[in-house]
Amino acid sequence: MRLSNFINGAFIAPVDGQYLNNFNPSTGEVYGEIPDSTEADVLLAIEAAKSAQLSWANTPAEEKFKVMNRIAELIDANREKLAMAESMDQGKPLWLARNEMNRAAQNFRFFATAAMQFSSESHAMEDKAINYTLRQPIGVVGCISPWNLPLYLFTWKIAPAIAAGNTVVAKPSEFTPVTAFMLCELCNEAGLPAGVLNVVHGLGQKAGQAIVESKFTKAISFTGGTATGKHLAATAAPMFKKLSLELGGKNPNIIFADADLNKAIKTTVNSSFMNQGEICLCGSRVFVQRAVYQEVKDRLVAEVNQLTIGNPLDENMRIGAIVSKPHYEKVLGYIELAKEEGATILTGGKAVHPSGLENGWYIAPTILEGLPFDCRCNMEEIFGPVITIMPFDTEEEVLEMANATEYGLAATVWTSNLNTAHRVANKIQMGIVWINCWLLRDLRTPFGGTKSSGVGREGGWEAMKFFTEPKNVCIAF
Ligand code: NAD
Repeated sequence: MRLSNFINGAFIAPVDGQYLNNFNPSTGEVYGEIPDSTEADVLLAIEAAKSAQLSWANTPAEEKFKVMNRIAELIDANREKLAMAESMDQGKPLWLARNEMNRAAQNFRFFATAAMQFSSESHAMEDKAINYTLRQPIGVVGCISPWNLPLYLFTWKIAPAIAAGNTVVAKPSEFTPVTAFMLCELCNEAGLPAGVLNVVHGLGQKAGQAIVESKFTKAISFTGGTATGKHLAATAAPMFKKLSLELGGKNPNIIFADADLNKAIKTTVNSSFMNQGEICLCGSRVFVQRAVYQEVKDRLVAEVNQLTIGNPLDENMRIGAIVSKPHYEKVLGYIELAKEEGATILTGGKAVHPSGLENGWYIAPTILEGLPFDCRCNMEEIFGPVITIMPFDTEEEVLEMANATEYGLAATVWTSNLNTAHRVANKIQMGIVWINCWLLRDLRTPFGGTKSSGVGREGGWEAMKFFTEPKNVCIAF
């Protein structure tokens, strides 16, 4: 399968005619090619987006709603095909890919209604004047997404961007480009006008960099690693671009002794290892209050030992393959580092080679014990099926350990004491706190992290505000 760029409603080859290999993580083999786009391709995409922008901005909200809703319906109608493609491209289990396709459709449906309901504010100054604040589209915006939840996160950016009347130049991750490519076909079928969405495939440092460097992309919405985010911010800052950065995490999962342990342990298995631990919201540091530490540890290890790992297309597999060889090697490298740092491996700790898929990139879900809270394995994002487990005595102590990393994305807290829940939620330095649940998402809520986990928030009105420029008009009476 050879992918093309999608520019001005047409599928076109990269200007330089160069392609990159695309790998299937479950087999470790090349199974397709994607454009190795350069600045020339990005400039074509920007031209198309510029030409389409005014007309799209002036398209009545109801028309925007209808076409976005049709895209959602087409994602639903093609769910199985998309899920299969996502699973092969990313390595995630097929059942999980199906869930993510539901969310991709929901992203379009949710922001289709936002297009209809977004409104301006007005501020009256008694009998002197009235202000009204227009929220106008920014123009051409860049959307750059990562490989872990490919279509889910791609649509999470594109949908609000176009709902707000912008046109988009987007780049999916070079590791997982296929469903973004398939989405373009659905956009044409739904009647999205040419040039509203343009997708350029290729490397971050080439195609991605060109999107960020262009003076015509007035805002950049980026999800990816913290180091990339830092570089991107440095490129964009001198041009005063609006930036939304959703970056890495090192999320604490805190289990108090008074928690519903059945629920906490069951959810911890998911929050640690869903999508091979390749979700920015996965809890990677599990803190357990000492009175229940042994019990939680033993039960967690027993449950994790039951997890099936292998061919992502096999409906019985809970854990699939790691997205790429470099990432696989990075995660295994952290397991080696953990050993040097004094960890005891309670389960996993090694690569797995399922029969018939020996060259795929599989790592057993791994639980590490005995590491200091401030060692590298507890400070740095591993972003794989590797968690650490640590005991704590007091609320103060666990807060200190949980807040010790440079990251501030998401925390999970398990307790049946309402006071503990509120106190910890108040003091923990994270953008998102889940109490007695994990990944329960209401798309209206602000989504994002503090500290090195990001700048700005996505979701609901936050996203609509990010993708619009406020203009205040003051009329004196
Ligand atoms: P990455 O930073 O390597 O790449 C993300 C995207 O940026 C890719 O499309 C890549 O091609 C592009 N890119 C790379 N260099 C670029 C440059 N110089 N200019 C412009 N674009 C560039 O991240 P990744 O490895 O794909 O994703 C994993 C990371 O994403 C993890 O750190 C994870 O925590 C983070 N993540 C965060 C969230 C969140 O909501 N906070 C969600 C998912 C993933």
